[in-house]
Amino acid sequence: MLSFVRVAIDQPAAVAASAGTGDGLYDYRWTGGAIEVGQFVLVPFGARTLVGLVVEINDTAMVDAERIRDVVARVDGLSPMSADWLALTRFAASYYHRPLGEVALPSLPVPLRDASRYALSDPSEDGVSCSATLPSIARAIKRSAKLAAAAVPADAGKEAVALNPMQAAALGAILEARDSPATLKPLLLYGITGSGKTEVYLRAIAEVVAAKRQALVLVPEINLTPQLAETFRCGLPGARIGTLHSGHAAGERLHQWVLAHEGQVDVLLGTRLAVLASLPRLGLIVVDEEHDASYKQQEGLRYSARDLAIVRARQGLAGQAIPVVLASATPSMESWAHVESGRYRKLVLTERAVPEASLPTIRLVPTQRVEALHGLTEPLRLAIADRIARHEPVLVFHNRRGYAPVLACGSCGWLSACPRCSVNAVFHKSDRNLHCHHCGWQHRVPRACPECGNVDLSAVGRGTQRVEESLRALFPDARVARIDRDSTRRKGSAASLLDAVHLGDLDILVGTQMLAKGHDFRNVTLVCVLDADSALYSHDFRAAERLFSNLMQVAGRAGRGGARSRGAEVLIQTRSPEHPLFEALLAHDFDRFAATQLADRKAAGLPPFSHQAVLRAEAPRASDAIAFLAAARTEGMAILDAMRVDRGVELYDPVPMSVARVANVERAQLLIEARARPALHAFLDAWLGALQGRRPRLRWHVEIDPLDI
Ligand code: ADP
Ligand code: ZN
Ligand code: ZN
Repeated sequence: MLSFVRVAIDQPAAVAASAGTGDGLYDYRWTGGAIEVGQFVLVPFGARTLVGLVVEINDTAMVDAERIRDVVARVDGLSPMSADWLALTRFAASYYHRPLGEVALPSLPVPLRDASRYALSDPSEDGVSCSATLPSIARAIKRSAKLAAAAVPADAGKEAVALNPMQAAALGAILEARDSPATLKPLLLYGITGSGKTEVYLRAIAEVVAAKRQALVLVPEINLTPQLAETFRCGLPGARIGTLHSGHAAGERLHQWVLAHEGQVDVLLGTRLAVLASLPRLGLIVVDEEHDASYKQQEGLRYSARDLAIVRARQGLAGQAIPVVLASATPSMESWAHVESGRYRKLVLTERAVPEASLPTIRLVPTQRVEALHGLTEPLRLAIADRIARHEPVLVFHNRRGYAPVLACGSCGWLSACPRCSVNAVFHKSDRNLHCHHCGWQHRVPRACPECGNVDLSAVGRGTQRVEESLRALFPDARVARIDRDSTRRKGSAASLLDAVHLGDLDILVGTQMLAKGHDFRNVTLVCVLDADSALYSHDFRAAERLFSNLMQVAGRAGRGGARSRGAEVLIQTRSPEHPLFEALLAHDFDRFAATQLADRKAAGLPPFSHQAVLRAEAPRASDAIAFLAAARTEGMAILDAMRVDRGVELYDPVPMSVARVANVERAQLLIEARARPALHAFLDAWLGALQGRRPRLRWHVEIDPLDI
């Protein structure tokens, strides 16, 4: 039987080597047996063979009949991708303005989209059709028994805690939403740190799994520790739990992906990339810490996993919407605004779940005109000494790694800089190297100033390594450790540091954001924050939101249980104790903070009250990047004139990015702001098409809903 299949391929549309439609889809002839939409095929593309995904089947050729080539082979041994999954990738392609093939295929595990790994069967009698199989898929499916075996036996469940009334109400609302898909809204599970949000959504998942449906749980990058998977296994006895994140080797990722796709996984726990996993029986999505910036992909398809999760839940399973639960103690302004407008429903937990736990007292410690020793003021030093004496571990939060942000020469003013980027090079004492935190450049610390030969170079400012050293100097008998990206390169080392705190084997743990996220320390009663100021006066309109949520989250590590919970304290050193952000923070009052933030954003016409996109260009010379953007802007203005949507869409002047040069590439950007989404997307469709047509000789891309501008 002859038919024509339209295939999505991960190839830039500009490479017109086959019969293409111009939107990254290509037509091929198929004369073999049965074929379905959602199946993978191997197809010729120029001189190569590529893996493609069948998205349409037609009786007649839609394009250029003479140029149509034959499918090489149909991939067998794997269920087709579902219509729901295709609808999700179609949405992502149109929303982020990328060809479908560049959205659908990169979301798949690498071996699956590597044509060279497939084994081809002999061509059948007609000489054309043949099938291909990927040996590792078969192996993955065989391994499903292992996953089931890893599940905690259903009857071995530990004594379940009784939900408190607020938790019970939240769980009830989630289940009620599940049972009334027609009126379903995204649910914002808003609860203070330690209020038992995890417990609530685990119960909901248990119900979903009992009904033979799958649950997808997204967690921030940094959160996906072995402990979390363990919490899930214990909390969901009998459930087969899969994990999907970028830390898996390619083979393991394929296994996990295939098992989820074949319905052999009940709960898929993953980072942002898991939002595009194939889950044929999906019944519930949870996005934990929904405000977390790691849900935004920063390269390639620059998607927000949180936003795609909302869309995926709305599209649901076979046309029936499924619930999505966004959990956070400090929701994003976007989600908060949706609650206020009635588009999302808020479920609130206002108290800590463990009976004897209580919220810590937050105190500001002014640093102006105050003597500090090694960067620590007296109140911090006394408080730390006091807790050590009582055998209560102390967390010291400092969101900057390395020893010192810059080395300086006192006689000529030289500063250590990365030769490839427009940033300072950070001094790391651990390896006596200068490091660039943007491009990875490293170099031995010079013995003397490269400019004037002065041998007296000084380390300016402090990073976690220096804070660790200071604490050792101030508290010589204390057991001090550091947790940041540098100290935890070895797999499992972060987990063992956190365990050491639990076990009381550490007195002080210094760290970046890594120590703030989600860890349930029962014995910590003091958290110190050395420097909250750098974020207070940032140009980024989201800096305050991020700082507030970081501080709430670190503060949330204290007072989570134990008899001493009541005296738990958070001490924050700051030069600006009068800053309005602190007023709400001291009162643990996110509602007040959010109200002020949203009022400010509304007055300034900023997101979520407007919608943004950025066009970025990269070139060896800054002038080329700016010139491209300036020309693009002129073209955009003409398009807006023609479309008559100019009053709703604004194009700003091109500017260099705040870190303009990275790895010898100059970067510039142009901000597009619109009052309404449809106008923004209609404009982008026309504009990006025109830009593509011009085939500029530099790299450029567009990002929708950028987080950093
Ligand atoms: P969150 O996710 O809101 O920060 P968790 O779900 O991690 O909070 O819960 C914090 C702690 O409270 C955990 O140790 C959890 O086991 C415990 N917990 C949760 N719900 C209850 C409950 N109803 N009774 C007693 N302890 C609870
Ligand atoms: Zn010098
Ligand atoms: Zn660099």
